[in-house]
Amino acid sequence: MESEKRIKMDFHTKKIDEVFSILETKPSGLDQEEVSARQEKYGLNILPSKPDMTLFQHFLQQFKSPIIYILLLAAFMALTIREYMDAGFIFAVLVLNAIIGTYQEYSASQKAKVLQSLIKSTAMVLREGVIQEIESRLIVPGDILVFEPGTKVAADVRLTETKNLIVDESLLTGESIDVHKDADFISDKTHLPLSERKNMLFAGTYISTGRGRGIVVATGKDTEAGKIAQLLNRKSKARIPLLEKMEKLSFTISIVIGFMVLFLFAIGLLKGMGFYALFLFSVALAVSTIPEGLPVAITVALTSASIAMSKRNVIIRKLAAIEGLGACTLIASDKTGTLTQNRLSVEYFVSPHRVYDTSTLNEVHDKVYLASILCNEIHYETSEDGGFDFFGDQVDMALARFVANADESYIKHSRSYRKIDEIPYEPVNRFSAVMLERDGQIFQFVKGSPETVLEHCDITEEEKQAILGDVDAWALKGYRTIALAHKESTDEEKINLKNFNYLGFVAIIDPVRKESPEAIRKAHEAGIKVVMITGDHPNTALCIAKELGIASSDEAVMSEKELFEWEKNGAKAEVLKNKTVFSRVSPEQKMKIVIAYQTLGHYVAVTGDGVNDAPALKHANIGVAMGKSGTDIAKATSDIILTDDNFASIINGIEEGRRAHDNIRKVIYLLISTGFAELVLVMLSFLTGLPLPLLPVQLLWLNLVTNGIEDVMLGLEKAEPGLLKRKPRSPQEPIFNRLMLRRIAVGGLYIGFVSFTLFYFLLQSGESVESARNIVLLLMVLFENVHVFNARSEINYLYNIDYRNSMFLIFWVVFTQLLHLSCMHIPFMQDILSIQPVSLDTWMKLSTLALGLVLVMETDKWLMRRNTNKKHYMPWYTGEKV
Ligand code: ADP
Ligand code: MG
Repeated sequence: MESEKRIKMDFHTKKIDEVFSILETKPSGLDQEEVSARQEKYGLNILPSKPDMTLFQHFLQQFKSPIIYILLLAAFMALTIREYMDAGFIFAVLVLNAIIGTYQEYSASQKAKVLQSLIKSTAMVLREGVIQEIESRLIVPGDILVFEPGTKVAADVRLTETKNLIVDESLLTGESIDVHKDADFISDKTHLPLSERKNMLFAGTYISTGRGRGIVVATGKDTEAGKIAQLLNRKSKARIPLLEKMEKLSFTISIVIGFMVLFLFAIGLLKGMGFYALFLFSVALAVSTIPEGLPVAITVALTSASIAMSKRNVIIRKLAAIEGLGACTLIASDKTGTLTQNRLSVEYFVSPHRVYDTSTLNEVHDKVYLASILCNEIHYETSEDGGFDFFGDQVDMALARFVANADESYIKHSRSYRKIDEIPYEPVNRFSAVMLERDGQIFQFVKGSPETVLEHCDITEEEKQAILGDVDAWALKGYRTIALAHKESTDEEKINLKNFNYLGFVAIIDPVRKESPEAIRKAHEAGIKVVMITGDHPNTALCIAKELGIASSDEAVMSEKELFEWEKNGAKAEVLKNKTVFSRVSPEQKMKIVIAYQTLGHYVAVTGDGVNDAPALKHANIGVAMGKSGTDIAKATSDIILTDDNFASIINGIEEGRRAHDNIRKVIYLLISTGFAELVLVMLSFLTGLPLPLLPVQLLWLNLVTNGIEDVMLGLEKAEPGLLKRKPRSPQEPIFNRLMLRRIAVGGLYIGFVSFTLFYFLLQSGESVESARNIVLLLMVLFENVHVFNARSEINYLYNIDYRNSMFLIFWVVFTQLLHLSCMHIPFMQDILSIQPVSLDTWMKLSTLALGLVLVMETDKWLMRRNTNKKHYMPWYTGEKV
């Protein structure tokens, strides 16, 4: 089996037996020894990916910015007129900025890589006769793969068995039409289009419905997907709306500042200032006021948020989901497994005549056990202590355990039945059926929701109503009910869904997760509506919803019939306003419910695990897939994955999302308000005919020591108190809302005016310009040092936020202040920055002015919080004491 030959082989033209022999394998799969040998030979089943950027490439990346070009130009100009000091300083600033940027971006990308590796893909493989779940990358040619709805095909496969197998090949062919597959199909055309090779499955496609098995014929780069991987690789990387918005914002601000600087430049020239000095000044002003650090700081904030989330069982697949989570106003959750523990167990069997509990279960009719274990798709292994390890569907496992507890021999004998026909369980059908043969006897079984099973049974209308009445009563107590029926037929060749004998139903309990009620309370407190969407019986759903605090009365429930009516009447959104529980929901209805809530203005998070959830997940603002029980397709269409399948984790995600959003606003606030303050100072001086209040190098220095990494630190701030006691912010609310603009104006104007006034009076009192600049620079450094703390919260008073959360920030501010003070004493730096030492007294006075800024900002907060009109500024603030 040469690798070369294998790729060229046209397996769709070969008979199944031939494929087995070409690939030297057999229906029960490879053995471990052979697997190891083949792994050695063919390598891992992975597609080649683009190599990561190296540290040096990240470094070069830092220089791809217009700001940098302007600075380089300025440095070059400085060189040509022999201002070596200036040139050296500009270069130093450039390199320092690049080093900071490189470090931030590199570590962010490394962390993103680690997060990516948390998303593992697995496949079901048959080896040595046992079905097991393994990581997809360990698959080798010759392996036998087993397919269920929702699984991602992990390699190219020649099918050997198919049952209603329908596949979504849109990734490969670009057409999103479902393709029927058939193991018995064979073609003599070697050049058949991929979509017509009905006996083949291709890596990267998804199983929509049905079941199947097949032999792996190609892995990794040898697969069809591998051949076009080059194409896929070239696809531009996912865009992050927030980052894009920020890049646009930076750009707009740059343009505005650019014009202002040009304006200043023109006035300066008219006033007869030297060209070089003016040019350098314009450059410095532009560099320090343009928030070029914004995208990097935001990337860091988002990365840190996704790491924090991964520690709380939320994996972010799309970075945009972080801001989405922060804005979430409604969660539409599954019941089974998300709100409940998904540890189903059968507690009762209810026949039309008698209720059996755990002590009398062994008296149940023989056929009940046969139906439970034979009409069942679980896989099992015999464990070391002689018991069984089941895995597969939760309902099926509950039934299997129910049988195993009563009499293990049923399980052992189950393999002696030969399957003739089956209708596998699909959520839309709500039932499954099989036809089997043993010792010449033919059996048929169905199991599923009582309403559907009873339709196939031979009973009178009264009997049926009596049974459904029983079902309603049991469901009201929170039990899930699965009905069983059988028939022995001699003259049928395929399952015929008629004339079954009704056996009874099992009552299954699925306890709610203990974290769920608390999580729902938190969601309500945070102004988030929670609704439950389930395929289960309305009474079961209501009972559980009551226990969870999602619903209090029947009115909140929408039954199958009501949903049908609702759809027929145009799926009006208003109808859903007072509903919180949706039962017997079809996949299409689930999607319609999501859309209806969106038209009501909700920002909707939807959970899902099955194939059928994909449409709803796709339409959701935030698609939430289950990490454990979720199918591959649900995960692939989702924005986030919950590793523990737990509803409570969504609330954690929302908390982190809100924190990230807060922090991003903090970063933006710091950068924009300090830039604005500098602009105010400079403009005022210019317009009043004073000299430049700061020299170009002084502006660059100010920017470096006060903004350089503080913005990044703000992006890493811990959550503020009361984060989950606010209402969700509106997704339509722009970053530059009233609150942001007001705070920029107040902070920026205070800094700008005070420093300008000081400069003015210093000059008036006869200080030299150099000395006045020296003092103004010190004041600006103090101002901006202090201002970082104002940026820490838009709403909470500073004394309410734990200072221990920001030890590093405090340390850094003290450090930069000391750095500036020491530079005043170092001759070399004195020369470069044109600065001189000041007296302690002066420093104290300036510090007092700077601290006044905190007072002003806090007073403004107080006004906004008190003002009855505060709704304009903080629509999400509930006035909750924190
Ligand atoms: P949920 O929304 O709570 O997860 P499901 O969609 O899993 O509910 O189940 C919906 C209904 O389908 C159940 O009430 C049950 O009657 C039926 N059902 C679920 N699993 C199976 C199965 N494996 N075989 C047959 N019927 C099932
Ligand atoms: Mg389910």
